[in-house]
Formats: sequence, structure tokens, C-alpha cells
Amino acid sequence: MTQYDLHTHSTASDGSLSPKELVLRAHENGVTHLALTDHDGTEGMEEAIQAAQDNEMTLIPGVEISVSWHSSTVHIVGLQLDVNNAQLQQGLAGLRDYRRQRARKIADKLDKAGIAGALEGAGQYASETMLGRVHFARFLVEKGYAKDMKDVFKRFLVKNKPGYVSGDWASLAEAVSWIQAAGGQAVIAHPARYKMTNTKRRKLLAEFSSLGGVGLEVSSGNQHPEEVRTMARLAEEFNLLASCGSDFHSPDKGWNDVGQMTALPPSVTPIWTQWQ
Ligand code: AMP
Ligand code: MN
Ligand code: MN
Ligand code: MN
Repeated sequence: MTQYDLHTHSTASDGSLSPKELVLRAHENGVTHLALTDHDGTEGMEEAIQAAQDNEMTLIPGVEISVSWHSSTVHIVGLQLDVNNAQLQQGLAGLRDYRRQRARKIADKLDKAGIAGALEGAGQYASETMLGRVHFARFLVEKGYAKDMKDVFKRFLVKNKPGYVSGDWASLAEAVSWIQAAGGQAVIAHPARYKMTNTKRRKLLAEFSSLGGVGLEVSSGNQHPEEVRTMARLAEEFNLLASCGSDFHSPDKGWNDVGQMTALPPSVTPIWTQWQ
């Protein structure tokens, strides 16, 4: 039996398990093929590959790239990457630089809202290379400003709330080209989650496909089965291969467990049919 989870996070980005702990948990949950797809970096890969080898699992090197597209933030997953590719790593390094600038802005805005010490506080939860909103969220929960992660993303760090900074990420074309340079396949992550009209979503798929993107994450986390069917129809219509991933971040309440997602419908072509 094979079981694929092609979208997960570790402490190398905003996940709370180390790459090794993530692989072990995936193994316990019956996952045989796991992609590590940390935000804007691949620092965790070596450790994950080693742990997968030790447990006779297949580890697919991946990444989740932050993209700004027509005033929306969208995420593009790259799978089967050569993580040593210089063009990919140069692009990702630029995004992590931007994350550091953004973190200072987020902290300044929180400071003006009466919340001091957020940059240092968030930094305590983050690896050296990647600072994200989840690290700020953990700080805000710990200090009692919010009751949990969900509460944070309702009252802070989002549009019209304290600590919001609009994203200035890679372009869609850049993300796809970095993934291609590294010999990987580009996949639109969690397409149902973007707050955009269906017309805009279809425009995203069309543009992505014309740039050389090949996949759509038809099943993500604990998505409703009806939504999975809708995304499956879009994959067929735009001739995109189907991917599936839990988007696991943490064993804590509120996140999907690794390996947990609705199965892909039989009508789509799974992306792994292109792998040997
Ligand atoms: P960033 O890329 O630093 O802007 O942070 C985006 C990350 O924040 C996502 O990958 C999620 O891990 C987390 N996130 C965003 N929105 C929410 C939400 N509503 N609830 C929980 N986590 C969220
Ligand atoms: Mn995340
Ligand atoms: Mn994402
Ligand atoms: Mn993710």
C-alpha cells in the first residue's frame, strides 16, 4: 500500500516538529511517500531524507513558494526538486530576506498597537532562516493577546488588523521558473482556500499552466469532499496533474494531521504517475 502526503512543514519553516520528528509521525500514520514543503526554504531536507531512509520511506524534496499575484498571495508547491540548484536557492534566499524586512514591519505595527517585543518574541519560535506569521502568532498566544492560532488570524496579522503587512513576494513566473530550473514540478497549493472569485481562480490556473505549471493540489488537509470534487473538475479542465497533501504544521489542535486528507477522485491523473 502506498500513501502520499505531498505538502508538509517542519521547524525549518513554521511547523512545530523537526524534519526527523515529522518523518517519524508520517511513518506512524502510514504515509509511504512524503514531501517536505517548507515555506521559502529547503533547510530541513537533509535531515528528512536521512530519517526517511532509516524508515524505508520515500522523501520527495519540495518547497512552498510565496507568490504575489494580482493583489492576492498564492502558494506554489515545487516537488521533486534538486535542492542544490543555484537559481532556486537564490530565489528562495531573496524571499527569506523579504521575510526579515516584513517581520520588522510587523513588529513595528504591533508595537504601535501596544504590543512590545514581538520581533524577539517571534524569533524565539523560529529557525534562523525563516520568520513567518505563525511565529508571531505563537508569541501572541503565549503572551495572552489571543487564545489560540485561529483567534490570532482573526484579530491580528490580517488585513485591517494590528500587525498586518501586505505581501510583496515572488511573481508567479519567477516561482514556476525556479522550480523548473531545479528540475521540479510546480503545483498550485490549496486552490480552494484563496479568497477570490471563481473567475479569478480560473485565470490563475490558466496563467499558471501557460507558464509551465503542471499540477493542482486537488485535495488539501481537511477540505470538504465536495470541494475536492470541484477542484478535481478544474484539474481535468485545465489539464493539470493532481496532487494531495495535508499541509501539516503541528500535532496541536487546529491543524490537520500528517497523512490526513480526502483521497483523490479516480477521474484525475495523480502527479506521481509521472515519477519512476
Ligand atoms: P506567512 O507566509 O508568514 O505570511 O504565513 C502564512 C502561514 O500562516 C500559513 O502557511 C499558515 O501556516 C498560517 N496561517 C495563515 N492563515 C491562517 C489561519 N487563518 N489560521 C491558522 N494559520 C494560518
Ligand atoms: Mn505555514
Ligand atoms: Mn500555504
Ligand atoms: Mn503549507
